[in-house]
Amino acid sequence: MPLTTPITGRFAPSPTGALHTGSLVSAVGSWLMAKSVGGRWLVRIDDLDTPRQQPGMVDDILATLERFGLLWDGELSWQSRNRQAYEEAFEQLNRCGALYPCSCSRKEIAQAASAPHPADDCLSYPGSCRDTTPNGKSIRSWRVRVTDEPICFHDRRRGLICQNLSSGCGDFAVRRGDGEFAYQLAVVLDDHLTGVNQVVRGDDLLNSTPRQIHLQRLLGLPQPEYCHLPLVTGPGGAKLSKRDNLVSHHLGNWNGREGLLLHAVLCFLGLTPGQELRGAPGNEILAWGAAHFDVTRIPLTGGELAFTTQRLD
Ligand code: GLU
Repeated sequence: MPLTTPITGRFAPSPTGALHTGSLVSAVGSWLMAKSVGGRWLVRIDDLDTPRQQPGMVDDILATLERFGLLWDGELSWQSRNRQAYEEAFEQLNRCGALYPCSCSRKEIAQAASAPHPADDCLSYPGSCRDTTPNGKSIRSWRVRVTDEPICFHDRRRGLICQNLSSGCGDFAVRRGDGEFAYQLAVVLDDHLTGVNQVVRGDDLLNSTPRQIHLQRLLGLPQPEYCHLPLVTGPGGAKLSKRDNLVSHHLGNWNGREGLLLHAVLCFLGLTPGQELRGAPGNEILAWGAAHFDVTRIPLTGGELAFTTQRLD
């Protein structure tokens, strides 16, 4: 038996659009963190949200990663092929009474919510259907019960993070009325099925992590370590315009200049690569990054990716 479990990290893009500088930071950050300790780095295509997918996007994302020297270990995995595992987890949760059907619409929840949660992706659910059966009403979602206590975890960059799900977002949806599974449940199973024990992703998903830990605990699954990375913003801290910051093999907007962008990403993550590395081949810059990576140097706040605002020619 090895004394320590080897690290398995991952990058999980959704094929709803081309990679942008923000997603490149997540890809590079997760690659560096896994590779700096000799771990594996997997790529999973998060293709559950079928209507929002764009044709050809998977090929473009993979070609872009390769172009930047971000080569994954082993086979690609696909969320859409894990539905059987989601179904079994759903049954397991249902059998132990953790779930209930909910007939509330988004509008009803928004009206009943005591306070809006603008920074979050969830409308705080007041529990209207918790103890009633939606008699004759159509089921809009299946929700998992949460408890009124903090869920805490240690984030490798942010330190101790605690959230009380009960006051934070309430019982949350794990499945839609039409049968499709929600991201929160899917991601927990996806990571478990591929042995992922290190989740490195953008700060925009920090709020989802306590919900995912709640599901891991109910399902008896191990908890990966987490590291949420600072977000790339537009000028002056404005939300990043993803359209203007695309990084796409197909568009070719960075082709031939991958090294310049990678250099900027390493600086964004707190590394100090020398100027001579600017423009070096991607795999050389990444190898330097893995050898010098230090999670404690990742800045606490995000900002602009210095390079992208400068003219290149
Ligand atoms: N597929 C998700 C996204 O592109 C990321 C999921 C995750 O990293 O947990 O935002």
